[in-house]
Amino acid sequence: MNVTHLECGNCHKEHEANVLQNLCIECGKPLLARYDLTKAAETLTKESLKTRPENLWRYAEVLPVEQAENVVSLGEGFTPLFKAEKLAATLPIKLNLYIKDESTNPTQSFKARGMSAAVSMAKELGVKKVAAPSAGNAAGALAAYASRAGMETFLFMPKDTPRANIIECEQTGANVTLIDGLITDCGKIVAERKDAEGWFDVSTLKEPYRVEGKKTMGYELAEQFDWTLPDVILYPTGGGTGLIGMWKAFDEMEAMGWIDSRRPRMVSVQSIGCAPIVKAFHEGEVFAAEFPNAATVASGLRVPKAIGDFLILDALRKSDGTAVAVSDEDLISAVKEIGAAEGLFCAPEGAACLPALCELIEQDSVKENEMVVIFNTGAGVKYLECFE
Ligand SMILES: *Cc1c(COP(=O)(O)O)cnc(C)c1O
Ligand SMILES: [Zn+2]
Repeated sequence: MNVTHLECGNCHKEHEANVLQNLCIECGKPLLARYDLTKAAETLTKESLKTRPENLWRYAEVLPVEQAENVVSLGEGFTPLFKAEKLAATLPIKLNLYIKDESTNPTQSFKARGMSAAVSMAKELGVKKVAAPSAGNAAGALAAYASRAGMETFLFMPKDTPRANIIECEQTGANVTLIDGLITDCGKIVAERKDAEGWFDVSTLKEPYRVEGKKTMGYELAEQFDWTLPDVILYPTGGGTGLIGMWKAFDEMEAMGWIDSRRPRMVSVQSIGCAPIVKAFHEGEVFAAEFPNAATVASGLRVPKAIGDFLILDALRKSDGTAVAVSDEDLISAVKEIGAAEGLFCAPEGAACLPALCELIEQDSVKENEMVVIFNTGAGVKYLECFE
């Protein structure tokens, strides 16, 4: 077996891996998959990667699925890493700036990575019906992968979710319910109804495998930078799955002898209208309080309470990173700045990394000639309402 067991990220209690699991039965926090990395490293080598498929399943030994026929794929991952020289030239200091462009994933966001892994594992473990709350892209990705796996999908979304997200879910076969509330309200409905309805809850970090799909962004960065890591990673943070995942991937790669103990400084980027992680980080908290009256056009960042908050905060601190909140006005104008300079029509969430980077430069926390990666997590075309 690739996964030897699941370990609670908080109390470290071990859980069995080959049955359906949601949260830790002891403390209710997220479970993380643990692998026999010595065994994985026997076949998963830097050399072996040269001939593997150009999607995230190239890292199969450090992914959960046992039987190849259970892999549900639409070609996710192995996204381009662009050098952003023109954009860098607009900044006050000289930087080696890169954009990891996740908009080229199936369903146009990096949510595809997590859902490919989670739906594949759900299929392996016999799930027929899946449910999730979503502020946007997670819903589209779940609908697509679940339909491909032959499962029924039940989605609960805030009624002001971008229209593209709602329409794509309906068109890819999901049952969609719009809620007059936030993603946390949608999450409560799934939690209340799932047992009676027989739904498997695939909410962010409430099952162990979305984070496994998203961690492949960390593997890819290392591979694309020829087994070095950048100095700084800016990550637009909602539930924080990708940040937690990349942090985990770095440890796994070190355990397999692929990289040393140096780590990028991890930076969480949020919107001023919903910045629970930024607030908790600067107040020195271990957990983040629910952010009141959460509001931002960057729907993927509208997560007032993240269940993996302590894991995000831990990675930011251990990496000597930080957390930055930017205004909606700045993140929307950044879409055009990045687009006009580099030809990428970014999601507002991804674009938020630019004003955040400017702030870090101003504070002197990013230095001349450093290697910086910003994540464009999705496609701007899904957010047409934001540009009217
Ligand atoms: C979901 C989402 C995010 C936030 O991702 P997390 O890993 O949950 O923090 C950022 N950008 C886009 C476009 C998203 O869909
Ligand atoms: Zn626990």
